[in-house]
Amino acid sequence: MTARNGRTPAALPNPTAVTALARRAGRLAADLDAAGQEMAAIGGDTGQVGYRLDAAGAAIRAAIDDLQAAGAALARMRRAAAPGRCGLPWGVCPEHGATLVSTGGQTGCTRCARSWDYHHLCAPCTESVTHLLADAHGGTLRLCTGHAHAARTTVVGGSIRVLA
Ligand SMILES: [Zn+2]
Ligand SMILES: [Zn+2]
Repeated sequence: MTARNGRTPAALPNPTAVTALARRAGRLAADLDAAGQEMAAIGGDTGQVGYRLDAAGAAIRAAIDDLQAAGAALARMRRAAAPGRCGLPWGVCPEHGATLVSTGGQTGCTRCARSWDYHHLCAPCTESVTHLLADAHGGTLRLCTGHAHAARTTVVGGSIRVLA
């Protein structure tokens, strides 16, 4: 079975390949730290070299944060593409629907205490399919509970029912 975007989880790279890159970058950052400490121990006119090594280390650590976020996003994409998952390409509160606000890379529900440490509004839905939406033109869409709530406020002339 494929997700609504035609993907299967196996069609996406394994997130461990991305997290392995983050580990490699971590070793490079450690090597840069050691080289910077070596320059500091020498002292004298090596300050510019140490400064550049510290800057390179900071850049690598920022890259590690991005690699870890990319690995987590890839893992969510694979979960969303698995059989029986909603897979709609935007996030909702699983209980309340379209009630989310995102700011600064954090997302929260305005109706409950749920929160996500990433831009959940732009993440594919990993919730289980629980509802069937039938639109006024005969089209159908399988949805999770949160997306069914959201659809009730936006779909005109269709019906939404709980799947057995
Ligand atoms: Zn909520
Ligand atoms: Zn959903």
